[in-house]
Amino acid sequence: MLTNSLIELDRQHLVHPVSSFRGHEARGVRVLKSAKGAIVRDSEGRELIDGFAGLWCVNTGYGQDSIVEAAARQMRELPYATGYFDIGAEAPIRLASELADRAPGDLNHIYFTLGGSDAVDSTIRYIRYYWHAKGQPNRDQFISIEQGYHGSSTMGAGLTALPAFHDGFGAPYAWQHKISSHYVYRNPVGTDPQAIIEASVAELRAKIAELGEDRVAAFYAEPIQGSGGVLVPPTGWVKAMRDVCAEYGILFVADEVITGFGRTGPIFACLEEDIVPDLMTVAKGLTAGYAPMGAVFMSDSVYETIAQGAGPKAVGHGFTYSAHPVSAAVALEVLRLYEGGLFERGIEAGKRLMAGLEGLRDHPLVGDVRGRGMLAAVELVVDKEKKTPLPAEVQPATRLLDRAWEHGLIVRSFPQGVFGYAPPLCCTDDEIDQIVERTRRVLDVTLDDPEIIAAM
Ligand code: PMP
Repeated sequence: MLTNSLIELDRQHLVHPVSSFRGHEARGVRVLKSAKGAIVRDSEGRELIDGFAGLWCVNTGYGQDSIVEAAARQMRELPYATGYFDIGAEAPIRLASELADRAPGDLNHIYFTLGGSDAVDSTIRYIRYYWHAKGQPNRDQFISIEQGYHGSSTMGAGLTALPAFHDGFGAPYAWQHKISSHYVYRNPVGTDPQAIIEASVAELRAKIAELGEDRVAAFYAEPIQGSGGVLVPPTGWVKAMRDVCAEYGILFVADEVITGFGRTGPIFACLEEDIVPDLMTVAKGLTAGYAPMGAVFMSDSVYETIAQGAGPKAVGHGFTYSAHPVSAAVALEVLRLYEGGLFERGIEAGKRLMAGLEGLRDHPLVGDVRGRGMLAAVELVVDKEKKTPLPAEVQPATRLLDRAWEHGLIVRSFPQGVFGYAPPLCCTDDEIDQIVERTRRVLDVTLDDPEIIAAM
């Protein structure tokens, strides 16, 4: 009863992010009620394993009381402090210092946002300001990567390279350019890692030449492309791209909104890539989804250039909720939990997850299995030899998502027929095994689906 009335109220009033308005009205909302660890319960009492940590964010798992207490303590003591007018609060100051200590290289200066989209958007503004301060205002062209995701702010959506974020929105802008993804499974140059790296380097160089060496402001890359379908680049790819940017003095921005905070193992994926970006964005795992927060990390030289350029003038970029004390208190406690054993647990659980998913390769519908740590994907095909994707007419995304829910599993289901996994780092061995086992069952029923059979 309660569920039905909520579904109706939702239909009438709540606009959902990145959803088909009409499709959502027809399907209705699935109301989640409570959660503990990696298990969520819906309003009908059904239990599901959350193999996607909410939206790649609840890395600690749900129901961590110490995080709740940290937030409550901060709310009682000081629920809000502005960062404007030289004012601040203890929690965000301590958080900035803790993060700078752990960040790659000299990424010592941190601007806090409310999430990933405004972190990316902030980098665009700071980078424009940086090049003005350097006396090169014509460096105003930005390059990102096909299948990349950098949020859905007005400017960030144009760096994102997914059609739904562009069509009808007038995105991307003329100053936003793309090069091809490394997408190993479907790369036109084949699957050889070195060939893929060389092709990407050549394409980036060609794009820089086309736009003009003195026109390119920045290049954006996710260490692993998340929303494009969990696309893992060959080892050394990120470093090769970073080196090209350094050669031309182009700022390299690592978007670690998904990969940060243990998702692939270490606190930041850049550390395992052995690179120091000029700027880095994070969100999601920063607060493990318990409160909204993102961050922009800037290198010493980016920060100094902006500071010198501005002189006594205010750098006019900021939000009422920049460096929110409650979110910062949450992030500090989340960091304590990560380092108190959750990062280590995530590494162990990640090995088990990858091994389990690799075991699905024998299934007739599985074309590719990829991932690193607790970030993985299984790509479905109807013909393994030809790598034929599931036909768009069968609407793979909603179909697969529905099947998974029926089997007590929450995963991401990408439009091209790819399952995405990003379980909480706290998952037990049994929960990891269940994620794999339930995936196999979903694959089996999908194989019996007459519309899928017709496409084979
Ligand atoms: N960058 C990346 C790499 C992301 O994955 C996301 C979110 N999925 C964003 C930016 C945007 O973050 P948010 O949804 O918190 O605005």
